[in-house]
Amino acid sequence: MATDTNIGTTTYTLLTEKQAALQAKCPRCRRGDLFKNKMYSFKQTMNDRCPHCNLKFEREPGYFYVSMFVSYALNVAEMVAVCVAIYVLTRSENPMIYIGIFLLATFILSPFNFRYSRVILLYWLTPGLRFNLEKSKDLPLETQE
Ligand SMILES: [Zn+2]
Repeated sequence: MATDTNIGTTTYTLLTEKQAALQAKCPRCRRGDLFKNKMYSFKQTMNDRCPHCNLKFEREPGYFYVSMFVSYALNVAEMVAVCVAIYVLTRSENPMIYIGIFLLATFILSPFNFRYSRVILLYWLTPGLRFNLEKSKDLPLETQE
């Protein structure tokens, strides 16, 4: 973020929807972080509210239970990809190789699935939650919802 010399004027790069989703930014302002820690951290902790626009991420109690279904879909897609890759690379018919490598891949990819299941839920599966240019601008938090 670069700051202008004019007092009260800050310039920033407005991210596209895909860039903001990949960087796990708030879906409304695309500036605040959804998570407190980095993508490769095994302990993923989500912010309750957007640090920039103060949007409450958990839309209603238990909202993120829905992300378990998204996470399940991601896991199935990864399982298919891993199994096809194992078959192409090894031509093995031993099921223990598939199970072992898949369980390892599931463990390694669990922070990714946790993070991006919530991102997918907030960006594309939540009705009425859209990017708002006004919320993206630099305003004091008290004036925002
Ligand atoms: Zn925000």
